[in-house]
Amino acid sequence: MQDSGSIPRNSIAAEFENRTLRLGVSSCLLGNKVRFDGGHKRSSFLTDVLSPHVEWVPICPEMELGLGTPRPAMHLLETKPKKTKRSSDGIELVEVKSGINHTKEMRHYSHKTTRALNPLDLSGYVFKKDSPSCGVYRVKVYGTTPPKRVGRGLFAQTVMNAYPNLPVEEEGRLNDLKLRENFIERIFAFHRLKTLFQSRWTRSHVVKFHTIHKLQLSVHHPSLYRELGQLVASIKEHPRRSFQYKYSQTFMQALEKLPSVGRNTDALHHAAGHLKKILDVDSRKELSLAILDYKRGVLPLIVPVTLLKHHIRRNNIEFLKDQTFLEPHPKELVLRNHS
Ligand code: SF4
Repeated sequence: MQDSGSIPRNSIAAEFENRTLRLGVSSCLLGNKVRFDGGHKRSSFLTDVLSPHVEWVPICPEMELGLGTPRPAMHLLETKPKKTKRSSDGIELVEVKSGINHTKEMRHYSHKTTRALNPLDLSGYVFKKDSPSCGVYRVKVYGTTPPKRVGRGLFAQTVMNAYPNLPVEEEGRLNDLKLRENFIERIFAFHRLKTLFQSRWTRSHVVKFHTIHKLQLSVHHPSLYRELGQLVASIKEHPRRSFQYKYSQTFMQALEKLPSVGRNTDALHHAAGHLKKILDVDSRKELSLAILDYKRGVLPLIVPVTLLKHHIRRNNIEFLKDQTFLEPHPKELVLRNHS
């Protein structure tokens, strides 16, 4: 594990981020030589950029299963589903050359390890793509010619089933700046959400939490944003556990949708509206122009957001200064710089 703490940004968000943010990760992505061929798949984004902000929990399911390194290559194989109580779904983990089947051990290991992850309180997981153990999307499934890209690694599947709200991403997809930004945004948001619900929360804590996320939620998923607003308004009508379950599920589902330029522009205009009567004509014009240039794709989002933050802090605009939309993740991650 590599050490660090979370970085407090705005004052209220910092209250929800005052403990270590921990991420699960396929061990080979941190440069550990655990792959079947004795190599690694170090991701410099994870080790050089993200590392100072998180504590890693590296896991190599195949090594922990005792398969060692180097080891025979494995793949997913489609077989006929067995009609037993604990039957597989027809997807097995087998060695490519010998056909030795590791499905049962891997499933057992995955369930045991997933339970052991509970106290570690992960805020996200980065998996290695294409792996029959760790891949999340479109892992090759053999048994037909050509193989179908429809599988998911057995370990990744178990983790995702056990923690359905956990932000999960593959390292390959993190090269796409929009997906990277969305994943980073979700791990920080999930971290804050868990801090809220692990405390002795009250209605006023929830209102405070929801309020600082309003703009952020609205740029991701307007209809779920409205749904969450109604849920918070009717909080007294719900048993605590069911409120927590429903709010958490909807909150994370909303953030999974990528924000659009149009919705970001609306949020920027909305924030600028709060400054209308405070700013002088030149400052108003400068801000409008920056928002327009962002909308036209001439400037990245970070430019109008930085300008807004400057005016909000200078004028101490209560509703806006703690909005997570303005700083959903540490600025050192240099996100929002693409147009
Ligand atoms: S992809 Fe998963 S199983 Fe394969 S080497 Fe990396 S951590 Fe181990």
